[in-house]
Amino acid sequence: IKYKRVLLKLSGEALAGDQGKGINPPEILKVAEEIKEVHDLGVQIAIVVGGGNMWRGEAGAEIGMERAQADYIGMLGTVMNALALQDSLESVGVPTRVQTAIEMRQVAEPYIRRKAIRHLEKGRIVIFAAGTGSPYFSTDTTAALRASELNAEVILMAKNGVDGIYNADPKVDPTAKKYTKLTHMDIINKGLRVMDTTASSLSMDNNIALVVFNMNNRGNIKKVVEGEEIGTTVKITEPIIKEAQEKMTKAEDSLRRELGNIRAGRANASLLNRINVEYYGAPTPLNQMAQISVPEARVLLVTPYDKSSLKNIEHAIMASDLGIAPMNDGTAIRLVIPQLTEERRKELAKQVKAVSETGKVVVRNIRRDMMDALKKAQKNGDLTEDDLRDLENQAQKVTDESIKNIDKITEDKEKEVLEG
Ligand code: UDP
Repeated sequence: IKYKRVLLKLSGEALAGDQGKGINPPEILKVAEEIKEVHDLGVQIAIVVGGGNMWRGEAGAEIGMERAQADYIGMLGTVMNALALQDSLESVGVPTRVQTAIEMRQVAEPYIRRKAIRHLEKGRIVIFAAGTGSPYFSTDTTAALRASELNAEVILMAKNGVDGIYNADPKVDPTAKKYTKLTHMDIINKGLRVMDTTASSLSMDNNIALVVFNMNNRGNIKKVVEGEEIGTTVKITEPIIKEAQEKMTKAEDSLRRELGNIRAGRANASLLNRINVEYYGAPTPLNQMAQISVPEARVLLVTPYDKSSLKNIEHAIMASDLGIAPMNDGTAIRLVIPQLTEERRKELAKQVKAVSETGKVVVRNIRRDMMDALKKAQKNGDLTEDDLRDLENQAQKVTDESIKNIDKITEDKEKEVLEG
């Protein structure tokens, strides 16, 4: 079984049968039996039901009704569907709870996230009705919202008569091509009409995968849950790149810190970063115990917050590899950075280059791991060849950017040690 907790989005039409309107109990029973098969596998199932078979707010608004009012009618329609579905599911022996986003305690529980999770954990199917409880939203958005709240791994979008996402409407255009894999970004960029944009961006932001498939073929829900590749899968792959980018930024920061330890002629508080001082029996970073300032270009002034620690600070500086004799005037310590000889400067510049090289190696390793992860995703079928090429380009760009940053950091530091 591929998924342990799924959110199934059933549009109102799925409960309506051929006429597309109203509630058709034999049709709902078929759906219930399919859901039961998945439930029997031990999968936790939450269901968001639509209401398009009853009423759509938008349609009401088009014929002169106030939009918000029309939407409330739509939400109430979803409650009727939810009760019908509950009836069918219980008739085949599946325990269920209905939770509504608009309170109506005589018919269902109000939506309470933690309670919903408990139900799922206890093997009950939870049916969410009344959408988000707010007008201007859709039940697709409700699905994305509830899936995020419940940490569902995937939204299963059961469609009526359409077996996935196409580049055009397959009912109108016979040449329409079906996608098997897409990213959320593709949906937005290509303007594909899978769900409304609010629902799309919510699932993208929360990294919720989608599988769009045809509900009319018996056994399809089970196939999807078992990992069979039917319909269209929408998944985020950008995280591979985002994650690598974050790691590269960290590598740049750590390079900056390391270079900060290379002492140039100029005074810089970071020179004292590595010095720990014995304070009440514990080694404490000096920069937490004292204010460090640069009163002159080659002078560091260390003023302890607690005067009694002055002696210990002095000892710690002397014992360190800093190589500068501290001058203690009774309230603060002055450190005068000696002028560097030409030879020493060149040595330091070499050191800078070497440290920077190790930084670049780290970035290149991150790049290699990222490329491997992308290739693996393509092999697993999570990416098309086209996606892979696109993402590899993005990965290269991110790497080039990081190397450029490292070059700049290095150049600045070299200038500092050679001229400063
Ligand atoms: N609706 C709403 N807020 C929500 C969810 C739904 O106002 O959070 C209303 C809206 O008027 C919508 C109707 O309920 O047209 C039915 O939902 P939807 O169109 O999403 O149902 P589906 O197309 O899935 O059957």
